[in-house]
Amino acid sequence: MEVQDLLGRPLRDLRVSVTDRCNFRCAYCMPREVFGPGFKFLPHSEVLTFEEIVGVVRAAVALGARKVRLTGGEPLLRRGLPDLVRMVAAVEGVEDLAMTTNGALLERYAEALAEAGLQRITVSLDSVDPEVFRAMNGVDVELDQVLRGLEAASRSSLAPVKLNAVIRRGVNDAGILALAEFAREGGYVLRFIEYMDVGESHGWRLEEVVPAKEVVEIISERWRLEPVSPSYGGEVASRFRYRDGGGEVGVITSVTAPFCGACTRLRLSAEGRVHTCLFSRGGVDLRPILRSEAGPGAVEAALRSLWSVRQDRYSEERTQQGGRARGPKVEMSYLGG
Ligand code: SAM
Ligand code: SF4
Ligand code: SF4
Repeated sequence: MEVQDLLGRPLRDLRVSVTDRCNFRCAYCMPREVFGPGFKFLPHSEVLTFEEIVGVVRAAVALGARKVRLTGGEPLLRRGLPDLVRMVAAVEGVEDLAMTTNGALLERYAEALAEAGLQRITVSLDSVDPEVFRAMNGVDVELDQVLRGLEAASRSSLAPVKLNAVIRRGVNDAGILALAEFAREGGYVLRFIEYMDVGESHGWRLEEVVPAKEVVEIISERWRLEPVSPSYGGEVASRFRYRDGGGEVGVITSVTAPFCGACTRLRLSAEGRVHTCLFSRGGVDLRPILRSEAGPGAVEAALRSLWSVRQDRYSEERTQQGGRARGPKVEMSYLGG
């Protein structure tokens, strides 16, 4: 039976972090100074198996979830990922199966993922300037490598590919128009995401956030835009159509105009903790239940009791308090965005 939280929000989406490791070190997510050679990632034994992940997917679906998104860390680092895609796609009630990736390994995996039943893919691409891109990923990966991944995905049933760009003032804001142009020409659906104060490791400052409104102004000075009405309830992006037929572009106003009232997402970490908010502190550990004799009903019961007392609205509270609100919070690379 479906479940609602204390603010009347249903459970609709499950985000699954399949690994806490990443082959990038984006400063806004996994800064090198913190996630250096000595950083202790989860040992293999503590990461959920594919069967355990599917157990959580089934429970979430029984409570009303319809969309599943695989994320990380970098999901394509998880060995055998197409097998997990196949297993999740086979769960009855999963209507939409997507993934968010940095794209570095996408050229190798795009076809296998599509063939396994992945329906949609979002590639994070913060700049189409080779120098800026290399600096932002923190490990000198070349832009071309990701562009080849994008092309491979575009040739598969995963097209049209979505792009996510996080804009930081003074870092990549000069490239907003170039990104928009790249997406228009390649037929990609681009979303600009406001830089958020997730986690504790990157020294977030409100001054570095480029408000979505400013991004829209910059783009509309070059191309005429018109708003598009939301395609489904709970859609987090504000969308705009290019009047000249060049597709659409969106902005995600997580900082300047939060949308907690429509937040229907549950997040599962790689080690099996579930969090009802991106800015969550503790989460609830499902692994002991998953590794016990308790059976699938126990996972569903745990999720039901967690969701039914949920009242998270961190971003709205942060806005009301004019900047940074409470801490400490878990890292984005751990929860998967
Ligand atoms: N590694 C994959 C990737 O980068 O696409 C998946 C995981 S990553 C944590 C998911 C998304 O979170 C990415 O699109 C990334 O840009 C975004 N993200 C990470 N840190 C962020 C921050 N501080 N503010 C806004 N978005 C952030
Ligand atoms: Fe890795 Fe994605 Fe975080 Fe960048 S945003 S460090 S690619 S998990
Ligand atoms: Fe959802 Fe928490 Fe983000 Fe609000 S702050 S939209 S409750 S994840």
